[in-house]
Amino acid sequence: MKSVQDLGDLRGKRVLVRCDFNVPLDGDRITDDGRIKAALPTLTQLRAAGAKVIVLAHLGRPKGAPEAKYSVAPAAKRLGELLGAPVKLAEDVAGPSAEATVASLEDGDICLLENVRFEPGETSKVDAEREELAAKWAKLADVFVSDGFGVVHRKQASVYDIAKLLPSAGGTLVKKEGDVFGKVLKNPDRPFVVVLGGAKVADKLAVIDNLLKIADTVIVGGGMAYTFLKAQGHEVGKSLLDEASLDACRGYLAQAEASGKQLLLPVDVRVASGMDFAAHTVDGPIDVVAADAIPADKMGLDIGPASEKLFADAITAAQTVVWNGPMGVFEIPALAGGTKAVAQALTECTGLTVVGGGDSAAAVRILGFSDDQFGHISTGGGASLEYLEGKELPGLAILEEN
Ligand code: AMP
Repeated sequence: MKSVQDLGDLRGKRVLVRCDFNVPLDGDRITDDGRIKAALPTLTQLRAAGAKVIVLAHLGRPKGAPEAKYSVAPAAKRLGELLGAPVKLAEDVAGPSAEATVASLEDGDICLLENVRFEPGETSKVDAEREELAAKWAKLADVFVSDGFGVVHRKQASVYDIAKLLPSAGGTLVKKEGDVFGKVLKNPDRPFVVVLGGAKVADKLAVIDNLLKIADTVIVGGGMAYTFLKAQGHEVGKSLLDEASLDACRGYLAQAEASGKQLLLPVDVRVASGMDFAAHTVDGPIDVVAADAIPADKMGLDIGPASEKLFADAITAAQTVVWNGPMGVFEIPALAGGTKAVAQALTECTGLTVVGGGDSAAAVRILGFSDDQFGHISTGGGASLEYLEGKELPGLAILEEN
């Protein structure tokens, strides 16, 4: 994959950059600007080189038409504050406003086009429709830089098709993510420990499948652990359970046993009668019980103290750790202990620590940790999971071909 340096002298050149500015919003207030900050190295580099920078990004899931609540305006404003420079915002994605905005750029200026998903061509499954949109952008620019790692697993116009039309390179972020995940999957320093959590076990089955072959230890916590506990024959009360994944979980337990890999599950859990996620409240007291003795009327909502220690010991002794997914309902402070303990253990590990994107990245920030306490915080939840599944990511493959 080419880097920005390989694109030659960029002074006066129009450089189209795909970024991932899909930030969480509360109204028009950005609650976590990590993804915008992650784009700064490439954008600063391009501006310093005298390029005219045109940023493409999406926000949320609009259905192929403009919707005010999905405007990228808050991202443009925040980007301007972080860069200390004005960021012009085009009112459309590839129409007259985009053309006029690009034409108004001086060397070193930067603009953001409206949410690429306001155009149906962006996410179309029909090649010709995506290509038509990409062709409009290709007329606005001289070269393309792909720097939205969060979207490289998508075969979309601003990620994939555009790279077929312009000389293309990976930005700092995409190259760094590629290097880190490449190292982890192809040549990890050992012991290599993977920590998985979160709610949806089905989303992570393919990751477990691939990483049981590569890692030394796979730790499973969070809501997904209860399907594994059930697969071991334990009752899990009212805890999250994915019946459809039970057979797969039994298979992984057997596979780990047969291959001498460690598949660590919680040995104790924090339970309550229920919770109201929206109100951030828990019903009744929170008790610690053994993982094989969850009462029928209780719900496991976080790992317990013995599990925190078990997991932390494995993590601090590792040379490579990849973590994706919270250990409990960390959004409720009384149920954040397990996630905090895992995050703390990662900060104490002397090896390479990688925090998967999305929820886990937001969780460590909400819990008061800073990015520089970890080796690498991925900006792409879905992309990093697909990478860990061993899949080819279209947005990276096309850069390698270019
Ligand atoms: P995911 O999107 O699969 O990574 O799931 C993240 C969500 O899992 C977070 O919002 C957590 O609150 C939730 N979660 C973690 N542990 C549990 C649990 N034991 N029961 C229910 N939800 C959980």
